[in-house]
Amino acid sequence: MYRPTILTAGPNAKNTNRGIVRSLFFLLISGLILSPVQAFAEKINDIRLWRSPDKTRLVFDITGDVRHSQFFLDKPDRLVLDIHDTTKSSLVISPSLTNTPIKKVRYGVRNKKDLRIVLDLKEKLTSKSFLLKPNATYGYRLVVDLFDEEEEKQQAVIRPIAPPSANRDIVVAIDAGHGGEDPGAKAYGGGHEKAVTLKIAKELAALLRKEKGFKPVLVRTGDYYIPLRQRTKIARKAEADLFVSVHADAFRDFRANGASVFALSRGGATSETARWLAQKENSSDQIGGEGGISLSDKDDILAGVLLDLSMTSTLSSSLEVGDMVLKNIGGINRLHKKNVEQAGFAVLKSPDIPSILVETGFISNPKESRKLKSRNHQRSMARQIFKGVKSYFVKKPPPDSLIAKLKKQGKVNTRPDRYVIRAGDTLSEIASKFEISLTSLKRVNRIGRADRIRTGQVLVIPN
Ligand SMILES: [Zn+2]
Repeated sequence: MYRPTILTAGPNAKNTNRGIVRSLFFLLISGLILSPVQAFAEKINDIRLWRSPDKTRLVFDITGDVRHSQFFLDKPDRLVLDIHDTTKSSLVISPSLTNTPIKKVRYGVRNKKDLRIVLDLKEKLTSKSFLLKPNATYGYRLVVDLFDEEEEKQQAVIRPIAPPSANRDIVVAIDAGHGGEDPGAKAYGGGHEKAVTLKIAKELAALLRKEKGFKPVLVRTGDYYIPLRQRTKIARKAEADLFVSVHADAFRDFRANGASVFALSRGGATSETARWLAQKENSSDQIGGEGGISLSDKDDILAGVLLDLSMTSTLSSSLEVGDMVLKNIGGINRLHKKNVEQAGFAVLKSPDIPSILVETGFISNPKESRKLKSRNHQRSMARQIFKGVKSYFVKKPPPDSLIAKLKKQGKVNTRPDRYVIRAGDTLSEIASKFEISLTSLKRVNRIGRADRIRTGQVLVIPN
C-alpha cells in the first residue's frame, strides 16, 4: 500500500518550528557523542574460554570494532592486552581457569580511556590475538590464543618410508562437527549441534575401539573449535583409512526431517585439485602415503593428472562406504534422501582419504531433536554408522590390514546385511547359505508361517 509522505516543503510554521527543535536535539546528541566526557566507545560484555589439546582460547565479546595490542612481561609471566577506547561491563564473570596456563585475569583502566587486561600466567608461552567480525551467533569478538608450547618449526624433513607393517589396524578418523566458538545448528527445545555430534562421535569411537582390527581417532575430543582444514590434517597425520564427519541438519522449516550422507561432489573435487596444487610442497607427502606416488619429481601437469586420479578413486570409495552407512541408518531413522548426496563440503576435500559427512537428522525438527539429544538414539545412530563402516572394510580391507589377513583365513564374518531373493531360492537354503537359523531369518523379516517369498524381495540377514 502506498502512503503519501508528510515531509512536504511549504510555508508551514508548525513544521518549521518542529524542524528547528529537531536540529537542536541532534546537535545536542552529537555533542554528547563527541564530548571528551564520554571516553569509552566500546564495551566488553562477556568472556568465554575454550580449552583444546594444544591451546587455550579466550574470547571477549565486544560491542564494536576495536584496536588492540598485546605484549608479554616476565618475572612473573604475564600477557598484557590493551584495548583502545573500551571499558568492561560489570557483568563479566571470569570463566573457570582450571587446566589452563592462566592463573588469573585482571582488568584495569589505562590513559583514562583504554582497557588493560592482564593474564597472569603459570609459564612462559606464545600467543596470538585477533578480532573476529560478527556472525550469525555473535557480534565482534577479540580472540586470544595461548599456545601450550612453542609451535614446532615446519622442517623440510623427508619422512623415512615406514616398513610395511602387516596386520595393522584400520584407522577411522571421526570428526564431531563444530565445537567451541562455533556451536553449529540450534537444537529445537534448547542446546546445540556441537554437543550432539561430539556424543555420537564418542559412541562411534567406543564401538570401533572394541572391534578387533579397527582403531578410532577422534578429531575433536572436547568443546573447542578446529578449523576445517585442520580437521583433515589431523586425520592425515593419524594415517586414517576413512574420515567420517558427524553433523545434524537444521532448516528454517521445522518440519524438515531425516538423515542423509554426503560425499564430495565431482565439481568440488576438480576445483579443489587446483587449490591442492597451489600447495605443492605439501602435496608430495599427502597424496602417496605408503607405497604411493610422490609428486615432487613430476611436472605440474602430470602432478595434476595424478592428483585428479587419486581424488576420483577416493571419491568412488567415499560413495561406496557412504551407501553402506546410509543403508544401515535407514534401518533406524527416516532418510532425507535415499542416495548418498554429493556436495562441496570443505571438510570432505581430502584427496587421499575416503571421506563422508553424516547428517544424523534435523536438529531443528521437534521429534528428531528430542531423539538426537537422547543417549539411546545417539548410541543406535553410532551403531548404524559403525555397521556401515565395518561392512565396507570387510568387503574391501586395505591389503596390509589385520582384517585382510583374517578375511583370507576365513575368520571374518563376510555375511552381507541384505540378500536379494533369486528365482528358485528357498528360505531354508538362504538360512544355511549364511549360516543362520531359519527362525531368526523369518523373525527379522516378519515372514509368517506360509513362508511366502518372491523373486527380487530384499531380505535382511541378521548378524
Ligand atoms: Zn553441522
